[in-house]
Amino acid sequence: MTAKPNCPVIAIEEHYWDKELTSHYQGVEGSRDPEMLKRLYDLGDYRISHMDATGVDMQVLSHGAPSLQKIGADIAGDLARKVNDRLGEACAKYPKRFAAFAALPTAIPELAAVELERCVKAGFKGAMIHGLANGEFLDEPKFDPIWATAERLGVPIYLHPSVPHPVVADVYYSKYAKDFPMVIRAAWGFTVETATIAIRMVLGGVFERHPKMNLILGHFGETLPFLVWRIDQALARPGAKRMSRSFREVFSSNFYVTTSGNFSNPALLCTMMEMGIDRILFAIDYPFVDNPDGMNWIPNLPICNEDKVKLLSGNAKRLLKL
Ligand code: ZN
Repeated sequence: MTAKPNCPVIAIEEHYWDKELTSHYQGVEGSRDPEMLKRLYDLGDYRISHMDATGVDMQVLSHGAPSLQKIGADIAGDLARKVNDRLGEACAKYPKRFAAFAALPTAIPELAAVELERCVKAGFKGAMIHGLANGEFLDEPKFDPIWATAERLGVPIYLHPSVPHPVVADVYYSKYAKDFPMVIRAAWGFTVETATIAIRMVLGGVFERHPKMNLILGHFGETLPFLVWRIDQALARPGAKRMSRSFREVFSSNFYVTTSGNFSNPALLCTMMEMGIDRILFAIDYPFVDNPDGMNWIPNLPICNEDKVKLLSGNAKRLLKL
């Protein structure tokens, strides 16, 4: 058992699966080994026993990728309400152990905004969107109702990876996908896809139209804290369109990042130097990453106790109003 830190531990990118939603998953997206499936479908004692074994006090739950982002407009709205209602019931049963991010029917952005508001009024802490929405980038103005509602309600949207666009998957990764199945996913493909979506949201003016909208990125910001100086400098070279705020200004005032599945001290220190500790939140990525991987990192964090408290739960309490 891990030594318990002297503050609560709130992990905010912790996944489950809903049986009705995953019945629509295609191919490998719906297949996992039996133990993983048991963990994904459990929102009760089995999950809590894994939290207790390592000292995770609270999980902020979200559906696993691709969630509702590949569900068509014909059923997405009804399905979203059912999925979110079931998740809300699980949280109501264990209010001290679970909180939740809603799944959004992005196939109909206006309806996604309505569902976000309905869920937040029922106690959800924001929402999670997984990668492209039915193949479309999120900087398209049609998605603005979602950002406007999140901004008005004061809740963040968590942008989570999903499997890259099929054309990208084929051209970039197919040669190595058989020998290294994770190259298209957590090893690299997820990072490229999610960072690209986030950069496009800045370039597309999402944060100019919605200056108080907060976006959370997992995995220490999908490499962006490491690259923000170069992105910012290169985007501002002669010939570029003028933005009211630079990329760096937007990144350091509208973005939060989590530690999910990336328990690296160098990555932490780089992210702290670029964004400050107040914008970094603890997450594990259970059950795709196991709780001990995250919790065993905590005793080795190279930061003072005050910053540890912020990272492990203080920032989550503030941002998610827990
Ligand atoms: Zn995840």
